[in-house]
Amino acid sequence: MLLDNKVTIVTGASRGIGKAIALLFAKEGAKISAIARTEEDLKKLKSEIESNNGTCLIFKGDVSNEKDVKNAVEKTIEQFGKIDILINNAGFGIYKPVVELTVDEFDSMVGVNFRGVFLFTKYVLPYMMKQNSGVIINISSIAGTLGVKNMAVYAATKWAVNGFTESIMHEVREYNIRVASLCPGSVDTNFSNVAGSNPPARNKVLKPEDVAQTALLIATLPERAMLSHLILRPTNPK
Ligand code: NAP
Repeated sequence: MLLDNKVTIVTGASRGIGKAIALLFAKEGAKISAIARTEEDLKKLKSEIESNNGTCLIFKGDVSNEKDVKNAVEKTIEQFGKIDILINNAGFGIYKPVVELTVDEFDSMVGVNFRGVFLFTKYVLPYMMKQNSGVIINISSIAGTLGVKNMAVYAATKWAVNGFTESIMHEVREYNIRVASLCPGSVDTNFSNVAGSNPPARNKVLKPEDVAQTALLIATLPERAMLSHLILRPTNPK
C-alpha cells in the first residue's frame, strides 16, 4: 500500500472532497484523523473505514476554533505518536455581490477558509519539523488564481491560502516538508449546490475522487520531489 501507517489529518472530512481523501488514503494504509462539525457524518466515515480494516479517529470541531484545532492535533499525537500528512480541506463559499455580503459572512469565510488553514499548519508543523519530514496539502481553488464575480471574498480567501502555502513551502522545505496548494475547478459536491450560480452539469465537472487521487499523487512522490501548486480542471465542462 502507498501510505502504510502514514498518519493523516483531514479537515472537513465529513463529506465531499475531504471524505473522498480520507477514504482513499485509508484504503492505501493511512491512519486517519478526521475533523468536521457534523458528528453523525464523521461516525459514518469512521465505520466505513473500520469495516475495511482501517483506522480512524474522529473529532467534532470547528477549524476556525483554536481550542478545537489544538485538541485534534494533540489527541492525534497521543494516539499515533506522529503526523505525516495534513490535508487542510474544510471550506465553504457564499455566492453574493459584495455589497450584500454581511460582515458575519465575511468573518466566517475568512475564519474557516484561511484562519483554519493557519491554525492547523501552526500546530502540526512543530511535529513535522522534529521528525524532519511531512506533507501539507491545502485544498484551495481555481478561484484562488483568478477573479470570480459574486465570489470576491471566497476567491480572496483562496488567494490568501495560495500565498500562505507558497510562503510556508519556502519556510519548511529545509526540513524535508513538502507543502502544496491543490486548486480544483468545479467539483460535484454539496459546495456547488450551495455556492454556485448555474453550476455546470454534474456529469461534466470533477468528482471528489478525482481530487483525492491528485492529493494521493502529491503525497506519494519521492521525498526529493515536490508538487507545490497544482490546478485541476474538468476537461470539458460545457
Ligand atoms: P462540501 O461537500 O460542502 O464539504 C465541506 C467540508 O468542510 C464538510 O466536511 C464540512 O463539514 C467541512 N467544514 C465546513 N466548515 C467547517 C468548519 N468550520 N470546521 C470544520 N469543518 C468544516 O464541499 P467540498 O466541495 O468538499 O469542499 C471542500 C474544499 O474544496 C473547500 O475548501 C472548497 O473551498 C474546496 N473547493 C471546492 C470546489 C467545488 O466545486 N466543490 C472547487 C474548488 C475548491 P461540516 O459541515 O460537518 O463541518
